[in-house]
Amino acid sequence: MMKNISAEKSIESLACLDGVPMFSVPISTSNLVQPEFERFLSYSKVFFKNRHYTNNGELVRKLEQRLADFHEAKHCIAFCSGFWALVLTISSLAKEGRNEIIIPSLTYRRMADIAAWCKLTPRFCEVDADTLSLNEQTVRECITEQTALILAVHPIVNCCDPVGLENLSNETGIPLLFDGVESAYERTQSGKVGSFGNAECFSMHASKLLNGFEGGYVTTDDDALATKLKMLRTFGFKGKDNCFVANGLNAKLNEVHAAMALANLDELDKQISKNKENYYQYLTQLRGIPGIRILEFDESFDTSYKNIVAEITPDWPISRDLTVDILNAENILARAYYSPPLHLKKMNYPHIKSSLEVTKGLAERYVLLPCGDFIGAQEIDSVVSLLSLIQVNGLDIHHSLTLRSKC
Ligand SMILES: *Cc1c(COP(=O)(O)O)cnc(C)c1O
Repeated sequence: MMKNISAEKSIESLACLDGVPMFSVPISTSNLVQPEFERFLSYSKVFFKNRHYTNNGELVRKLEQRLADFHEAKHCIAFCSGFWALVLTISSLAKEGRNEIIIPSLTYRRMADIAAWCKLTPRFCEVDADTLSLNEQTVRECITEQTALILAVHPIVNCCDPVGLENLSNETGIPLLFDGVESAYERTQSGKVGSFGNAECFSMHASKLLNGFEGGYVTTDDDALATKLKMLRTFGFKGKDNCFVANGLNAKLNEVHAAMALANLDELDKQISKNKENYYQYLTQLRGIPGIRILEFDESFDTSYKNIVAEITPDWPISRDLTVDILNAENILARAYYSPPLHLKKMNYPHIKSSLEVTKGLAERYVLLPCGDFIGAQEIDSVVSLLSLIQVNGLDIHHSLTLRSKC
């Protein structure tokens, strides 16, 4: 693909000051990984030949088996999206008669909507300042008589401590669901992500590690939960007699999505090596620039190296948000890391007000840099050279932008 990266930038040629953007085709934080087209086609021939396009077809079953093995879990149940996988699993696991769900505030932007679909009120918990992850302690502080479920979402880089949370869940009898979307490949000291808690949810959206265009899945060792989720994703049908379990949806994964996911799963190792190269390039090159630091992956166990998160430290000349604006103008679609955090977002459904000082501070410091299948050495060079320009000239850039906004 032609990337058309323009020449080295100077302050005057910055796109935020009306220069030409550095990239004519935007580069983003979405993975958009593609398998060999022939591989995708050869899987697709199966559903085409069978004329079985959806409703628990051969490819969906094959995908579920492979993902259950991959995550070292007994069952895998595929869904049309991570969102509906979460809604149906939360609704199935939540303790009856209680109405609160504990969720980190520094997390996936749509998580409070998911709680609302489940008719649960979010009680947002803090995260640890070093790991950006919730933990046994920050969750414990939020437990009340109304807690129906703990939703432990892994942070974008590395994992939360699954065993501490499992112990808390066992001690209190509160069900524990993990959102492993950002840690789908990871292994921890105590086992593979996908094998913890009552269940774990994952996404196969095109932007995530395993691209199935759209899609999601749940892993669990709980036979009854697996059976229930299979019913719920298919309208809640129970047997042939039109008997229903409550709250069923059409949340099935179709065969063409499964074909894409299977083809990408075959090539996962190739993807991880490429991610690792990209990560090491960012890590090495950004080490030379003060004020910005890459969050490092824990390499003692399997890790996907997928997302590149950088911390803007106090010696960086301008704010994180202005930095993101300058990058975005160049068609470098960097994003603020989970900002604003959920507890500071406007919400027109019930939630419990809280002031989470650690989260509030962290939400102003991190940025997601371009990553994924589209990005290689050349793009990273350009992103780093721009960051270097900002580091040296940040105050001047800020000044020029302020002058302009006054005109
Ligand atoms: C993307 C995402 C989801 C939702 O997945 P979809 O398949 O896009 O609905 C859930 N949790 C996290 C942490 C995510 O990043």
